Amino acid sequence: MQSTTHDSNAIWQQCYLGLGSNLSNELGNPKQHIAQAIAQLKAHPHIRHIQVSSLYSSKPMGPQDQPDFINAVVGLETTLEPLQLLDTCQQLEQNAQRQRLRHWGERSLDVDILLYGEQHIQLPTLTIPHAGINQRNFVLVPLAELNPKLIIHGKSIEQYPMSHDYTGLRKLPT
Ligand code: ADP
Ligand code: MG
Repeated sequence: MQSTTHDSNAIWQQCYLGLGSNLSNELGNPKQHIAQAIAQLKAHPHIRHIQVSSLYSSKPMGPQDQPDFINAVVGLETTLEPLQLLDTCQQLEQNAQRQRLRHWGERSLDVDILLYGEQHIQLPTLTIPHAGINQRNFVLVPLAELNPKLIIHGKSIEQYPMSHDYTGLRKLPT
């Protein structure tokens, strides 16, 4: 699950992950894919203090001939390094049998790292804060629910325009 040796003396970093699903398969439906990913995060030895936002539904960003997405944001603390956390996210996608069908297309599970502490990271395989974070209300709204005091790119999350609801965002009943 990890790309490099884990340093057990590393400090705990507050991170946020964006989870999305709009495809059922033999392992479950979108809500179940998200629940299974959260259960695996909770069981991870180097992850603790998991918070889960409400579930939301949103219109797809790419091709419109696909089902609406179920989205949630997970807050957690981890001692995993950023690339190790990316590996963990990709492992969760593989565990949901994600297949790459088409760009911005349907998927059983997408797990993106939204924020990793206050770090800014620009690597070929990893951009943090996540590149789309400040334009996507299906990310901003659940993020603000978990932590309304978050600072993203030097600006309070409450100052981002979340009412711009082009994704048809809808909070699902609990
Ligand atoms: P998308 O999430 O935009 O639909 P994918 O899930 O297919 O796209 O991811 C494509 C690539 O994005 C991944 O292989 C990964 O290396 C890269 N990537 C860059 N930054 C991040 C990030 N913050 N979180 C997750 N993946 C990222
Ligand atoms: Mg992704």
